[in-house]
Amino acid sequence: MTTIKVEGREITVSENLDRVVDDWYQLSLEKCGRPGIPFTIKNRREFRLLPHLSRVSTAFPYSDGQVVVLVVALDNTDAIDEATVAHEILHWILILEGFPQFKDHKQPHNDCQIMLGSVLSHVPLNQRLAKYRFEYLTEVDGLADEVVAAITQREDWNLARPELIAKSLLCVDILQNCTLKKRQVLEEAVSINTPLAQYVHGCLDVLSHYDLMDSESTRRAGRKLISFLGLNKFGNYIEYDTVPKLRDMLKALRDHQE
Ligand SMILES: [Zn+2]
Repeated sequence: MTTIKVEGREITVSENLDRVVDDWYQLSLEKCGRPGIPFTIKNRREFRLLPHLSRVSTAFPYSDGQVVVLVVALDNTDAIDEATVAHEILHWILILEGFPQFKDHKQPHNDCQIMLGSVLSHVPLNQRLAKYRFEYLTEVDGLADEVVAAITQREDWNLARPELIAKSLLCVDILQNCTLKKRQVLEEAVSINTPLAQYVHGCLDVLSHYDLMDSESTRRAGRKLISFLGLNKFGNYIEYDTVPKLRDMLKALRDHQE
């Protein structure tokens, strides 16, 4: 059993999370060099991250010049949800393994960019969560219920294009990861909304030609989705690789300490 420090409190984590944390650390050593990248938990509000979104957690590497850490920034640090922590660390495990990252340079971290990242990563991510014995279907199915309610209650679908695309990608993300039963309910709700249905079915059709468990196939799927959705009509999407940047951060630490 490992203990971690969160806002001054010592928290004991389960063996399952301990394995995720350990696998992350070993991979960071292997891909980025010494001294590796430990992880820490912070409250998202401390960093004023994505203030326009609720119930969102995220993770990012951070260097203060003394140490490089993977900050898992949680929406709620009063009660730590281990599956959420594992989810955020697994995003970075996939990145170090070579899964693609796409960023809209015009407006970084907008909803379309975030949802595109989710669609491209949550299938392999959830498979690994299950491998580490974390349950994720209750959360995804719960989200499906919320989206179905939102779709059926909304009458006006005259949304701005980016908003419609972000909502479509959210549906695609859920459809790819929920239980079969919820999938049927959500598909039915989507199908009665023509503008939404066109995008959702189009994305699912594009994705059916790729293998999201494979990083290179996922890279091609991402490029294809960006062109299918016309994301560069209002954004400027580029592919980027954080790993060289992380190697540089760690090298700078070593140089500093020598
Ligand atoms: Zn995620």
